[in-house]
Amino acid sequence: MLNKGRAEEELFSFFCRKKQEDLDYTFILSSMCTLPHPVAVRAHCMFMETNLGDPGLFPGTASLEKLLIQRFGDLFHCPDAGGYATSGGTESNIQALRLARAHRHEVATPNVIVPGSAHFSFKKACDILGLAMRRAPLLEDHRMDADAAAGLVDKNTIAIVGVAGTTEYGMVDPIPALGRIAVQDDIFFHVDAAFGGMVIPFLPDPMPFDFAVPGVTTIAVDPHKMGMSTIPAGCLLTRGADLLNTLNIDTPYLTVKQEYTLGGTRPGAPVAGALAVLDYLGRDGMTAIVTGCMKNTHRLIAGMESRGFRRAATPDVNVATFVCEKERVPDPWKVSWTCQDYLRIVCMPHVHLDRIEAFLNDIGDNHA
Ligand code: PLP
Repeated sequence: MLNKGRAEEELFSFFCRKKQEDLDYTFILSSMCTLPHPVAVRAHCMFMETNLGDPGLFPGTASLEKLLIQRFGDLFHCPDAGGYATSGGTESNIQALRLARAHRHEVATPNVIVPGSAHFSFKKACDILGLAMRRAPLLEDHRMDADAAAGLVDKNTIAIVGVAGTTEYGMVDPIPALGRIAVQDDIFFHVDAAFGGMVIPFLPDPMPFDFAVPGVTTIAVDPHKMGMSTIPAGCLLTRGADLLNTLNIDTPYLTVKQEYTLGGTRPGAPVAGALAVLDYLGRDGMTAIVTGCMKNTHRLIAGMESRGFRRAATPDVNVATFVCEKERVPDPWKVSWTCQDYLRIVCMPHVHLDRIEAFLNDIGDNHA
């Protein structure tokens, strides 16, 4: 800690220099986050000091959180869904498995079945909760093999997980088939739609992934990804309003006497940001954004294949992957690589068509 405070001008010129060390989004093709929508920024600034950890002090902001959950409940075909705003997909996935654990607390050696493509947040969740993680293999198209998943179920299986919009290949797992397993064996079924939850409902022919599918118990969706909200903004949705109450613990000194959230102090600002984007754009506006991202994804795939880079998958959402040597990607583009070493590009809203064309030109010219 500094003994003497710093002059404000000096402090902010230091911050400016630090900010300049960051990348802006111009050349970022690897991220599932994007520039926040201007209405999200405006709402975020307006609710900067609010704390949803003590909702009785901020009832207006708390009602925005309820509204946000209601919007997602409607979107995901369950108008009376419960839920709350998390810090993102990791927290939502941890809490979903915590719920599953609470429902089967009598199981001494619990296990969870996840697809081989599951996000690494499930590893964290299983570590924290003492769950054995069973990875179901993927089919050739990078979707979870539902038959193999069924074969992994035993009496100690407390949850099954499917992903709607996988992190690496942008695939949607066979949610209806997994739902049938969940119903038949009476198992908690969590759908990780952290990325796809804000894409799939706006596709021309959306694949089933939400509460319309029998058996789906909980859904994770992240407004700070395709929802263009400010960070951190995730949501955990539950079928029915009461499910989360099984996680309640006493909170003696707050305006509420119990809470089920993982975090204590929780920001209201990104919640306002997330709701602002949803209500400002509406279904039509979101459909336009998603249509643009999917068009760009298809253009990228066509452009890469015409330059000799074969696609690794035909994605359901706006994530494109290619066979490509690392040296072929020119500076200053920031791409990522899957575990199997495929080039991975996420066509987020900030990745406009002119960026795709510029990248295609650069990679086509780069024979290094
Ligand atoms: N689930 C999926 C499918 C993801 O793609 C991600 C992040 O990319 C997460 C969960 C974790 O989300 P967060 O980084 O917001 O915790």
